[in-house]
Amino acid sequence: ANTRPRHIQESDMSTGTNAKSTASDQGFFAQYGGKYVAEVLRRPLDELEAAFREAMEDKAFLDELDIIRRDYIGRETPLYFAPTATRLLGGAQIYIKLEGLANTGAHKINNAIGQCLLAKRMGKKRIIAETGAGQHGLATAAACAKLGLDCTIYMGEVDVRRQQPNVAAMELYGAKVQAVTSGSRTLKDAVNEAMRDWAAHPDSTHYVLGSALGPAPFPDIVREFQSVIGREVKKQCAERGIKIGAMVACVGGGSNSIGFFEPFINEQEPRLIGAEAGGIGPGVGENASRMTGEAARDGIMQGYKSRFLLDEDGQALPTRSISAGLDYCGIGPQLAALGRSGRVEFTSILDKDALEAVSFFAKNEGILFALESAHAGAAAMKIAKEIPSDQAVIINMSGRGDKDVFITSPVFRPAEWLDFLHAEIERLEGGKDIHDAKSMQK
Ligand SMILES: *Cc1c(COP(=O)(O)O)cnc(C)c1O
Repeated sequence: ANTRPRHIQESDMSTGTNAKSTASDQGFFAQYGGKYVAEVLRRPLDELEAAFREAMEDKAFLDELDIIRRDYIGRETPLYFAPTATRLLGGAQIYIKLEGLANTGAHKINNAIGQCLLAKRMGKKRIIAETGAGQHGLATAAACAKLGLDCTIYMGEVDVRRQQPNVAAMELYGAKVQAVTSGSRTLKDAVNEAMRDWAAHPDSTHYVLGSALGPAPFPDIVREFQSVIGREVKKQCAERGIKIGAMVACVGGGSNSIGFFEPFINEQEPRLIGAEAGGIGPGVGENASRMTGEAARDGIMQGYKSRFLLDEDGQALPTRSISAGLDYCGIGPQLAALGRSGRVEFTSILDKDALEAVSFFAKNEGILFALESAHAGAAAMKIAKEIPSDQAVIINMSGRGDKDVFITSPVFRPAEWLDFLHAEIERLEGGKDIHDAKSMQK
């Protein structure tokens, strides 16, 4: 077991190319995946795997999960036909799966609720999670509040400072946000800290990993809980007689995309397309393109083997994207394998094209995409003409864009936004509203 990053040469890879839809006994999808962890984490991971397999066979567990999905998350989410986008793009019929309508505003709640319910079934009272931009922390905090679990979120100190709105929401949900001060004080360090905590408290605590990556069995667990998205799409299309030409999702760690693609992976059709963050360009440090980028390499980091953006020594390179959720140096092992086998195509979307997609769908359809999801929107805009008009392109809108107002407003209306911020500071420093709020709390 080796937890340190190590650069794996291409020639070290096994020759398997088929990415099966579940990991092998050792947690591999063809050449990617595995369980590269310190000895102390082997037992908690093995126990988690056994409990997960049992729960997925337990009707009472699945029924409870279904009711929470229906009444708390708000499933099923709509599959929306976008008539204006279809007309303007001139090709395939454009449909949008509105995951952004899920409670808390994105798909992440599907996984957070599933894992927290599993933890409860295992008798755990305490939940920990890592978060970068705060979206996974927020979903986990909400799930813990709903299910009555104690919750600690590890977040790099730098991220705590930049993502105050999400920190505030996590605290409202009753979670403790633990600022991580080691390393670069960002997501990578938060993951390490959460792993350390879990290794120290495996009996009381479950670690809710936020995407379809990390050591086995996490890629299987996260895909399973997110595959509700794809199953609904398949049913909705069958009911409405929609023929799918292509499905498009954005890819950070890969949880919304693998869940959306899952029921179609072992079929020949439709085309499955993953949109990575192209950032500001193709150069090293300018994007987060793990499948199509110049610095993409095979490697082992944070417990799994996959494609990463690494330097010559196997160290993680800096990444860049306008969307915090796609700004990560690794990709889930199953998607890496599906990319290598050719079943999933990858494309890289520039920040500016994602912003353009945000305005396009807002203006023409009244739907505000999250910046992450707008990468999928932009990829769909590019390929719509390639697909015949009797077929559909389905975009997974993984989240809605309200959360991005601090990023989109300075781009779309910089002067007005600056005025607004100045006025807010004046209002708060004037103290009147703070005073009023304090007297209301009494
Ligand atoms: C976190 C996030 C993503 C990226 O994560 P995946 O695991 O790749 O799905 C995409 N969209 C939204 C809205 C997110 O919050």
